[in-house]
Amino acid sequence: MTAAIQTPHLTLNDGRSIPQLGLGVFLVDPAEAERIVTEALEVGYRHIDTAMIYKNEEGVGRAIANSGIPRDELFITTKLWNSDQGTDSARAALDTSLEKLGLDYVDLYLIHWPAPKYGKHVESWQTLVELQAAGGARSIGVSNFMKAHLDDLAAASDVVPAVNQVELHPAFQQRELRKYQEPRGTLTEAWGPLGQGKYELAELPGFASIAERHGKTVQQVAIRWHLQEGVIVFPKTTKRERMIENADVFDFELTADDMATIAAADRDQRVGAHPLNTDF
Ligand code: NAD
Repeated sequence: MTAAIQTPHLTLNDGRSIPQLGLGVFLVDPAEAERIVTEALEVGYRHIDTAMIYKNEEGVGRAIANSGIPRDELFITTKLWNSDQGTDSARAALDTSLEKLGLDYVDLYLIHWPAPKYGKHVESWQTLVELQAAGGARSIGVSNFMKAHLDDLAAASDVVPAVNQVELHPAFQQRELRKYQEPRGTLTEAWGPLGQGKYELAELPGFASIAERHGKTVQQVAIRWHLQEGVIVFPKTTKRERMIENADVFDFELTADDMATIAAADRDQRVGAHPLNTDF
């Protein structure tokens, strides 16, 4: 097993530490998850982001079990699916995820979406607070929450989500939401940090020349930009060489001018679902 990649760690509002760079496994075929996560652990990743709805928790768990890496050197996130929101159903969902992962606890448990069609995000949050106290989730947070949803939690609970995992990439930078949640103690995690490959990063003004000047790919520039913005990031890839490429972002630094050029490339372009969707 190679050494862990040299990612910075950030401190969550509960005092625990999270590696700022990891691997996401959305749309990873359950049959391939074990191989992919095994390779990621070999490359040096120690932070894996999965979810009940990805249906690959078992493969993730097998890779963890076979890796021999001490549990406290890993950071594993999973998420409560929308139809499991509530009290008893959320408790049962965490138990099921832990069983599939083969773990006694996850490092981070998230409410996956506010899911307005169920109207249970506050009740679910209160349950996550209990689950954290009981030890099944070391840290707790939310995903795809908008300001109003965060306000709903603040009105009902003293526990502030450790993170809010939202769509975030150079064409959709979420500056307003970040400015709101970060002073309140909620770190931002980016999903779709490479725009899910749904647009060409090289098309954004200045991006290609920044990459060329640093001798890096546009994907590496995007990942580095998230890190310098203080955002937690776990790009997804199933290919070992891209796992290596995506972690090879600690030997260069974007200049203030580079950061300003990328800031100006924001075009408020979502590539994924809106948090208020009622389709799922
Ligand atoms: P992403 O932005 O990480 O993009 C993944 C795409 O980029 C894949 O097609 C991959 O082949 C390509 N890619 C990766 N590295 C590359 C490289 N070096 N060069 C060229 N192409 C490269 O999109 P994502 O997977 O949606 O987001 C990352 C993670 O965020 C997910 O795996 C998942 O863990 C999480 N996520 C969460 C939510 C949520 O609702 N909370 C939603 C989507 C994703």
